[in-house]
Amino acid sequence: MAVRPKSDTIAAIATAPGAGGIGIIRLSGPAAPSIMRQLFVPNNPHPEFPSHKLCYGTIITADGQILDEALAVHMHAPHTYTREDVVELHCHGSQLVLRQILHQTFAFGARPADPGEFTKRAFLAGRIDLTQAEAVLELLQAHTDKSARLAANQLQGALTDALESIRGQLVSILALLEVAIDFPDDDAELFDAMALGEQLHSVVIAPLERLIAQSETGRILREGISVVIAGRPNVGKSSLLNALLREDRALVTPLAGTTRDTIEEMISIRGIPIHLVDTAGIRAHENPVEAMGIERARRKVETADLVLFLIDGQVGPGDADLELYGTLRERPHLVVMNKRDVAGAEAVEACLREFGGARLVTVSARTGQGLDELQDAVAEMAVGNETELGETLACAPNVRHRAVLEEALAACRRCAEAMRAGVCVDLLAVDVQSALDHLGDIIGLTTPDDVLDEIFSRFCIGK
Ligand code: GDP
Repeated sequence: MAVRPKSDTIAAIATAPGAGGIGIIRLSGPAAPSIMRQLFVPNNPHPEFPSHKLCYGTIITADGQILDEALAVHMHAPHTYTREDVVELHCHGSQLVLRQILHQTFAFGARPADPGEFTKRAFLAGRIDLTQAEAVLELLQAHTDKSARLAANQLQGALTDALESIRGQLVSILALLEVAIDFPDDDAELFDAMALGEQLHSVVIAPLERLIAQSETGRILREGISVVIAGRPNVGKSSLLNALLREDRALVTPLAGTTRDTIEEMISIRGIPIHLVDTAGIRAHENPVEAMGIERARRKVETADLVLFLIDGQVGPGDADLELYGTLRERPHLVVMNKRDVAGAEAVEACLREFGGARLVTVSARTGQGLDELQDAVAEMAVGNETELGETLACAPNVRHRAVLEEALAACRRCAEAMRAGVCVDLLAVDVQSALDHLGDIIGLTTPDDVLDEIFSRFCIGK
């Protein structure tokens, strides 16, 4: 993102593309109120535009033609998203008209906003920190209720609070080290490096390790996991996929790139985004075209986070099932006995016998029996139990945070080790300072510009 003068005014269509009931144009910057007065004619001949109050009127071109009927609101600085003067024009949702009005704002001195620039301004003005800015993006992109909750907690500052508390502990430790550096003789007896090492461990290293552990579950909630349905032909793979899709009231998006051999859908299971893949029947085949499909299916199984290995309960497990099971048993998997509506007790016993070590769930894709239990099992395999999940939902670092946390942790571990080894205090302070800087990077206190640019470029224009 190029360096721009701070005082310019930006404008963009803030609502999603496509025809909607209303569409909103947002402006931010010192010229926003004057631009509004040039293109918006209020019905009230003596408008005051009190802050945060909608005003009814029409939007006109420079030569006086009416473009739309609209509501305008001027939000006075600094009580706004960007801390600057913000104007919103609530128009009818035609993209054509919205674009005309937007160009009119450019004619009066605004410039097109870069992706994420409103949120970047909020960050630069200190209204939100970097983890909160990222949470805005995550909230916009959340696939399920749980990923949205995680983002909402981060937006409220949950992660920042956790990091600030660790930073506070580091600052106290650094202060002790600095006293020891400045007054080496006075404090020679008071300074106990071993005790400080233990303190560093309990109030900094352990909390950092907990946060890092939570980031993996956070990643799953944000990005989801891939679950592959595998099994011989006719065991009911497509039926199970369809049954799970029907169960899923919050169906999100069909995935692009669906091939003839594998069908992929995205669903929410217990609030976890699941990329569900139905593979072509995996079996040895002479036909080269079908063989390619089978090969692709095998690769899906190899890279899946979880495999649902389906058995036909009507016929029970056979040699072909066992052979196939041998190729996937090393992957995280559940054995799912389908067609339980027509299965006898012997089939379940045979499954328990043949796949004894694995977790077995019995379902009927036709009647829906057992689907609840299957969903619970999938969720548990993905994110563990409810207690662990609760902690993660409260606060979980994302991939960027995790990389930086790992560096902070490495610096702290080096320091704790050096404390035990009796290394001189000056060197200890260097590591503590480095850990502090890394934590500052996460919040956005010391984040390099290219990292900021990368983060905000992931936003859409208008946000
Ligand atoms: P795929 O080849 O593994 O994808 O299997 P399909 O989903 O096409 O199902 C194969 C056959 O099994 C179809 O005739 C389905 O109607 C039937 N089927 C699938 N699930 C069930 C079930 O739970 N119970 C019964 N009775 N039949 C099922």
